[in-house]
Amino acid sequence: MLDKVVIANRGEIALRILRACHALGIRTVAVHSTVDRNLKHVAMADESVCIGPAPSTESYLNMASIIAAAEVTDAQAIHPGYGFLSENADFAERVEQSGFIFIGPKADTIRLMGDKVEAIRAMKEAGVPCVPGSGGPLGDDNATNIKIAREIGYPIIVKAAGGGGGRGMRVVHTEAHLNAAIQTTKSEAKAAFGNDMVYMEKFLENPRHVEIQVLADGQGNAIHLGERDCSMQRRHQKVVEEAPAPGISLEQRAEIGKVCVEACIRIGYRGAGTFEFLYENGRFYFIEMNTRIQVEHPVTELVTGIDLVREQLMIAAGHKLSIKQSDVVLSGHAIECRINAEDPDSFLPSPGLIQHFHAPGGPGVRVDSHIYEGYRVPANYDSMIGKLIVHGPDRETAIARMRVALSEMVVDGIKTNIPLQQRILSDAGFQQGGMNIHYLEKRLKEQKEKSISIV
Ligand code: ADP
Repeated sequence: MLDKVVIANRGEIALRILRACHALGIRTVAVHSTVDRNLKHVAMADESVCIGPAPSTESYLNMASIIAAAEVTDAQAIHPGYGFLSENADFAERVEQSGFIFIGPKADTIRLMGDKVEAIRAMKEAGVPCVPGSGGPLGDDNATNIKIAREIGYPIIVKAAGGGGGRGMRVVHTEAHLNAAIQTTKSEAKAAFGNDMVYMEKFLENPRHVEIQVLADGQGNAIHLGERDCSMQRRHQKVVEEAPAPGISLEQRAEIGKVCVEACIRIGYRGAGTFEFLYENGRFYFIEMNTRIQVEHPVTELVTGIDLVREQLMIAAGHKLSIKQSDVVLSGHAIECRINAEDPDSFLPSPGLIQHFHAPGGPGVRVDSHIYEGYRVPANYDSMIGKLIVHGPDRETAIARMRVALSEMVVDGIKTNIPLQQRILSDAGFQQGGMNIHYLEKRLKEQKEKSISIV
């Protein structure tokens, strides 16, 4: 087993990683910025190292500081969590070159998946269903691009190969707008990602977001852990996630899961990963692969009983997967609500001092959060202050448990999106299940226009 791990992240995921390490008897090193001295996991870690000032570019994104922290503490491995450097191939490479284990896939795999054109090409070759598209980067010849778009059929979406975080995309409905859209996306992509390569794919109008969780040991073994539905989104940010996805049959799950597992084996994937799909009219269309642990991983943990972070650590330590596909049995239904320090109506961040905190409890309730009474939420980072996750024998019970848990949860001193989450959980469409990725924004817009509650 690993002996000591550096947790190169903050907040709830740092605490989650710390707990998994300690349960395996692995010692932990917390690295933190100057404003993060009072984070819960910093107090709980065996050692801690301050890696720089508040701006993440000088701390959580500072590769040299993080690697130096591993050196001075004589750690063996670095867990990047999600966000920050988790999908940075150069970081993974530098970590390994410095003699440490990067808890994630090989740098080459991260690089491949970070280039969307290459990722789609590799996935297509591996038999993963993709959105019909240009199959490669677009050139400068307008006539050729028009021909490609006609073959795909409008509407199409122009996307940056190096894009991320929902940026660098443009929908085109008519041929007259195609060339201008390509040129604008190119120059935006150049400015934002330093890479002006763009490609084209069919724009799916009413898809759901359904993703498949995988685990692979990089030694020829891989399994899938079923799917999550993350269609409740605002500005491409997930707000509520659940597992399993409403209406996906056992056969569909087994089929798409098998495709993902085969792709993992083919590309020599190592660690935990997620295949993200748009799902429309009963079909899956691959959009991207995330090569790290995801925020919403707990819903999969609750329906499978498998501790994903523990498995990441085991794989990183060189163990073969101990779980077989036939061991993965889904039970019941799980829902996650992201709890953000933000105004529930304007969505403006609301950092500050937490004067009072009461965590909900009861059967099937899990709170993954680093906050406590007297903790000050800094303004420097993402506004997520925790996740409330529930599990029940069926979706209806999970919804009922989530509603009770949300009503119990108290976070005083700052504004949170708990009222928004309560409205979502009481919404008829959400309760029905299977809504598409535009549903939440549509309801929010209706609410704003009519000034009525979305209930
Ligand atoms: P990013 O890496 O920036 O998150 P993705 O490729 O995952 O980019 O796309 C982000 C979001 O953009 C998707 O969740 C979906 O809402 C929308 N999107 C991307 N591609 C398409 C498409 N072909 N049709 C419809 N919506 C799309």
